[in-house]
Amino acid sequence: MVVEVAPLMNRRLAVVAAVVVAVVVMSVVAMSVVGFGSPPERPDPAQMIDSGSWYVREQWAHDGHPIETEHFVVYSDGASQKARQRLAAIAEEVLVEVVEEMGVDPATMFRFPSGKDKIDIYANRYNVLEGGGARAYYAGIVIWSFDREVGRDSTDVRAVRFNLKHEMVHVVEALLKGNYVGDIPVGDPRRMPVWFSEGIAEALSGGTTVDAPRTLDKMNALIAKYGRINPIAWRVDLPPSETGDAYPKYYYPMAHLAVEYLLDADGLAKSPKDLAAVMLDMGTGASFASAFEAHIGLGESEYEAQFFARMDAYLPQSEFPRETVGLALSSLLAASLMGFSLIWGFRHWPAVATTKGAVSEPASGRRGRRGFVVEISVFAVFTVGFAALLLHQIAFADLPPYVQRAPGYLATTAYLVVAVAILLWSVRRWAYRRRAASLIPLLLIADAALTARIIEERF
Ligand SMILES: [Zn+2]
Repeated sequence: MVVEVAPLMNRRLAVVAAVVVAVVVMSVVAMSVVGFGSPPERPDPAQMIDSGSWYVREQWAHDGHPIETEHFVVYSDGASQKARQRLAAIAEEVLVEVVEEMGVDPATMFRFPSGKDKIDIYANRYNVLEGGGARAYYAGIVIWSFDREVGRDSTDVRAVRFNLKHEMVHVVEALLKGNYVGDIPVGDPRRMPVWFSEGIAEALSGGTTVDAPRTLDKMNALIAKYGRINPIAWRVDLPPSETGDAYPKYYYPMAHLAVEYLLDADGLAKSPKDLAAVMLDMGTGASFASAFEAHIGLGESEYEAQFFARMDAYLPQSEFPRETVGLALSSLLAASLMGFSLIWGFRHWPAVATTKGAVSEPASGRRGRRGFVVEISVFAVFTVGFAALLLHQIAFADLPPYVQRAPGYLATTAYLVVAVAILLWSVRRWAYRRRAASLIPLLLIADAALTARIIEERF
């Protein structure tokens, strides 16, 4: 009963294991440290200027160093000049897009507040809006800067662009009407209803919250969770304390759907130009209801009363069940892999393990061999199963459309490559000796934990 383990092999094994564990631990530590950044250095409060067009929304001072571009003036509480320029460049692009889509001629149609001819942007670096995100007002936008020090909003350029475009649609609305929604009292028929305003902003920007439901199954799932709330009845903003996650997950997606129906060829086949016409009419004092009926060809109260019936006729019941089919295929793949690896493993792995690198048959003989094959097979199945779960989670995550999935897929691929390398390594060189086999779970679990942490951060 002598277990032949050469001291040299033991040392190499220990070194390899130590390196792998060290790399994993260091990556986890590095990832927790990255993101804290340098401590914020706020501008001197004495230098701050205590006024601005955004005071209708937030009473925030600015640092007195705005930058100007053709259509924008970018103020801030300390954002770098570069961060302001980046924001202004995107704003210029997005304004052109919105104006073109809505068929608006800024020179003749925009009605700026008196004394102004540019749109203000307040790029907040240290201040944060209640509830996060960005806000629009009459001829202005409050949005976080690319070098924001506080808050949780993404500084990914795609996320900033989607949010800026959403707010830009609100700004164009205010400039077409020549007023800000807050200027018109609640209950006044000339006040723009929230569903129309947010629905257009979501439809033209592509969506900044969860995507609009596009099947009856999805819409009914939302209704089951949040109640049968008619989006057309959403006329006035609700206090954030009352809405919770219903705002991003029900109200915005449903308003998005309500406007998409107006625009879709299978719905009312209107164009964004018709929506702009509603706003222009309201600028001449028309009520929303009359402007809406004149340009959309349907009364607002009629739309409200018929909303769910119209959606029943418009939306398909369901789409191809990619989710269920994907999960079933993954399980099938994992099961066949397990069967295959067991059969193939019993025939080949012990031979492979004893030919190259390994010195000889271990003393434990047949039982050890079987145990080893079962261990490798089980972990191969767990590896594939875990990768399938990760892919599934990334593909079907309930996210705004701008969130990129590619980094998640990349992390999953890296995980698979490392896991397969660990398994191959254990088969070819070491693990048939029982001591090395005990390292397999440790390495694979470390690999899985690291990947799960990376993916959890985004999804
Ligand atoms: Zn909005």
